[in-house]
Amino acid sequence: MTKTKIIDGKALSQKIREELKAKVASFPSAPCMAVVLVGDNPASQIYVHHKMKAAEEVGIQVKLFSLAPVLTEDALIDFIRNLNADDNIDGIIVQLPLPKHMDSYRVVESIDPDKDIDGLCSQNLGKLFTGRPGLVPCTPLGCMALIKSVIPKLDGKRAVIVGRSCLVGKPVGQLLLEEQCTITQAHSHTKDLESVCKEADILVVAAGKPNLIQKNHVKKGAVIIDVGINRTEDGHIVGDVDFIGVQGVARAITPVPGGVGPMTVAMLLSNVVKVYVQKKLGQKA
Ligand code: NDP
Repeated sequence: MTKTKIIDGKALSQKIREELKAKVASFPSAPCMAVVLVGDNPASQIYVHHKMKAAEEVGIQVKLFSLAPVLTEDALIDFIRNLNADDNIDGIIVQLPLPKHMDSYRVVESIDPDKDIDGLCSQNLGKLFTGRPGLVPCTPLGCMALIKSVIPKLDGKRAVIVGRSCLVGKPVGQLLLEEQCTITQAHSHTKDLESVCKEADILVVAAGKPNLIQKNHVKKGAVIIDVGINRTEDGHIVGDVDFIGVQGVARAITPVPGGVGPMTVAMLLSNVVKVYVQKKLGQKA
């Protein structure tokens, strides 16, 4: 039985953050990221804390705006427009989910596409899908870096992506396509998921369903990126893949936690630096 490599997202993220730190230290001023947090969702507070800590460690200045959940959608959009107009702010994130009375799509659309470091507004997604340079969503960027750490040349590989959200599944598919992979995008209506997944040299799973992918879904030697984050009844965090079951079948797999999650944060910081380099230094990042 071949040993399955565990792809260490924490270590790769650390390496990227160290490179960013060195780059930021050479800049004439610190890049600045605005974080907009609406309400008091505990999970969002934890995510924001991680992002802020990581940003500050690489020398990125963070401005946190904690706004009351009673704010109207229009007031939030006005607030974001002020951040768009502020030359001191290079990148903006609005932590999702927003309170139920707000339309996330409209709010995300109000972020200046050149400051949209989550890469989620339609202009940036449009650029991704038309092959033009723009800001790319962080989790998909993280998935690509993890895949390339194991398979540097992706040309001609068969990739299956389970999930088709705009946040993860669709952009990952597009990025793999750009790297000359042949892709299949699976979703909840896919018939015979097992046979579809079994064709994959690269299997990216972003469904949010614990244990969806078992040993019998995996081709021998496949590389698996498990994006899922699920909390079990006993409070543990698990991915979408039966991590133990696929050992010895997969060539490599990302753990949960410690795989895609840390890379998402590293790629967010990388997007802030990219914006800064383009805007403030007038260079191509
Ligand atoms: P969504 O709920 O938006 O999308 C889930 C996708 O999975 C949908 O396309 C859905 O299909 C598909 N799906 C659901 N059930 C099945 C099934 N039984 N068989 C095949 N496909 C299925 O989730 P997100 O894309 O936002 O996130 C996916 C997971 O990744 C979540 O667990 C989330 O927490 C995690 N995540 C992790 C991040 C990280 O940094 N590590 C960042 C972002 C997300 P359909 O379209 O037909 O409904």
